[in-house]
Amino acid sequence: MITIITRDMGVITAFVRGVKSFKSKRGSATSLLSFSNFNLESKGDTYTVLEASVNKMFFGAGSDIVTLSIAQYFCELCNIFRPVENESEEFLRLVLNSLHFLTENKRSPELIKAITELRVAVIAGYAPNLVACDGCGEFEDAVMYFKLDDGTLYCSNCRKENCVSITLTVLQAMRHIVYSKFEQLYSFEIPETAAKELSILTERYVTYQTEHKFTTLEFLRGII
Ligand SMILES: [Zn+2]
Repeated sequence: MITIITRDMGVITAFVRGVKSFKSKRGSATSLLSFSNFNLESKGDTYTVLEASVNKMFFGAGSDIVTLSIAQYFCELCNIFRPVENESEEFLRLVLNSLHFLTENKRSPELIKAITELRVAVIAGYAPNLVACDGCGEFEDAVMYFKLDDGTLYCSNCRKENCVSITLTVLQAMRHIVYSKFEQLYSFEIPETAAKELSILTERYVTYQTEHKFTTLEFLRGII
């Protein structure tokens, strides 16, 4: 049984027959982290893969363990946020682009991870409100405060309990991830220390919002 993030049907599970056969054409198309075309048969809620052909395999033998772990975390994120039909295409586009940038190895993996986490949350309806301080409307300061449970922003005068401090660089990056058009989503850079800070914050946010213990994230944090 495999899990598929589809373009217009959300996340589905489907049975694949004969996939263990080494010569199976469906073998590579149905392997982990492949972008494939599927011909499915449905009976009620049950899907069976009739035919499958691979467009792109993102990982193969010898792939880097860190990028592979982040990619598996993206799968868990999609499984937990579970896009419904009308969100599905945007989810798929996001994951495909993130996997592309991750395997290209030209961008910081922490930054790609943070972009994906926060944007997945936005698509699924968990967008934080980063426009200005929720108390007084101050747009930005050297340090602002982010409230993890409801995703609101505060200045130092208005800060509440359960807030974490964020630097201006991290705030600007978060605003870009939340509010930019998809075409510009990956078009920014921040220093690696800020990318790491951002990545820790976005993972705390999605963990808080979903109340889910991501096993793939725990594994990742065990190796980096
Ligand atoms: Zn304020």
